[in-house]
Amino acid sequence: MSAPHAIITIDGPAGTGKSSVSRRVADRLGARYLDTGAMYRVATLAALRAGADLENPDAITASVADIEMTLSNDPGSHAVTLAGEDVSDEIRTDAVTKAVSAVSAVADVRTTMVALQRDIVAGEYAVVEGRDIGTVVFPDAELKIFLTASAQARAQRRHDQNLSQGRPSDFDTVLADVERRDHLDSTRAVSPLRAADDAVVVDTSDMTIEQVIDHLVELATDRIGARA
Ligand code: C5P
Repeated sequence: MSAPHAIITIDGPAGTGKSSVSRRVADRLGARYLDTGAMYRVATLAALRAGADLENPDAITASVADIEMTLSNDPGSHAVTLAGEDVSDEIRTDAVTKAVSAVSAVADVRTTMVALQRDIVAGEYAVVEGRDIGTVVFPDAELKIFLTASAQARAQRRHDQNLSQGRPSDFDTVLADVERRDHLDSTRAVSPLRAADDAVVVDTSDMTIEQVIDHLVELATDRIGARA
């Protein structure tokens, strides 16, 4: 059997386990994978390198207009380049994480990214992960998942992750940051974070990563089938 041409969208806020779940679901299904958050991070890095004023949407748009980025669509790879340079680590730095909300709120940046996203997975069987994939980028996707978890559960995961990676962490500060980002992402004018009307909403607060993966693979194989 050849791979079906189908798109599975996985949206939701940070801290739901979305990234690890999405990669592993793609891997289990034999599907391609696209991390759209990484694309907004590359755009943000380009804006920072160009010295764009982050309070000026036109300056941000200009710095991102002719961006040359590549992303691997292999679920096992994190490789990302900007103008031919490997920036896979640099896009995860605090400087980029702090600035990404401002860059991803600019309408022209989103238009450019959405066009690229549609292009990258055209004709593929792919899992596409982000914030607006089921609502804006692929409104006709075969399967739409919206992962949620309570702010407490998401803050606890981030806090545990910080400690296990040897970073200092204060739970109340982490919780306040999770709530601040939720507010910014869900109230922005362009493509706010919300579940598509026809999305399957999965609350991961009391589930392990393995349980979430098994559940999504089952939903996908029921609806689409896996590559044989
Ligand atoms: O998923 P990740 O945390 O790497 O995404 C970084 C940021 O990019 C998010 O906080 C969000 O502001 C933005 N983003 C977005 N739309 C997407 C994916 C990410 O606005 N489809």
